[in-house]
Amino acid sequence: MKYHVGFDIEFRKNPYKGIYIALEGIDGSGKSTQAKILADYLKKNGKKVVFTKEPTQKPPVGDLIHNIIQGKVNLPLVSLQYLFSADREIHLKTVVEPALKEGKIIISDRCFWSSVAYGILDKMENSGKLNNEDLILVSQSILSMYHQFIVPDITFYIKVSEEIAIKRLSKMNKKKEYYETLEKLKNIKAGYDWLARKFSKEITVVDGEKSVEEVAQEIVRQMPF
Ligand code: ADP
Repeated sequence: MKYHVGFDIEFRKNPYKGIYIALEGIDGSGKSTQAKILADYLKKNGKKVVFTKEPTQKPPVGDLIHNIIQGKVNLPLVSLQYLFSADREIHLKTVVEPALKEGKIIISDRCFWSSVAYGILDKMENSGKLNNEDLILVSQSILSMYHQFIVPDITFYIKVSEEIAIKRLSKMNKKKEYYETLEKLKNIKAGYDWLARKFSKEITVVDGEKSVEEVAQEIVRQMPF
């Protein structure tokens, strides 16, 4: 039985005096590196900055997510999406919104956009290559979990190829996580590239293959304030 279900998504704009900045991209793209540089830069300019990261590490949900992606707990992938959504809701209400209300700048390593890119990967692994209609359907189903969320004032998508990301990750002294394979990174990147085209007013693309300093300069240059 085939049904047509359609709806528009209207993002909630940040109603507070603080500024909400998010960094997005595949693992190894340089998000944490750039988040720290940006936070230091803004602090030096006298701003009150809160640096934060999703998924959180906090129990009961954030730590469970980390245990799943590190392969310590085995749960169906669809349930992982619900956990991400719950963790992001907790993070928004307990960290992001309070800081924005106080007029601070939030720099978040990932936000709800990650869920769409990773949801696209999960769907690709189940169904193979996706056409535009599939992509819209996946993004609608995931974004509907986040429609009450505040959209960041600016989201930087740090774009790198999966080959560069995997090379950088392999040099790091840490255990490989579930999503950190060339094939998965390639599909997540395809999800981010699609998102950046579809939501071009929300997502600012930065070339992450340049040097750390050049990427940092590009981010500062593109800041709207
Ligand atoms: P992410 O948070 O997106 O997973 P990281 O900031 O942890 O990425 O960076 C992954 C690795 O790549 C780190 O070892 C970091 O030092 C290195 N790295 C980050 N940005 C660059 C860059 N522009 N050029 C070269 N190496 C980089």
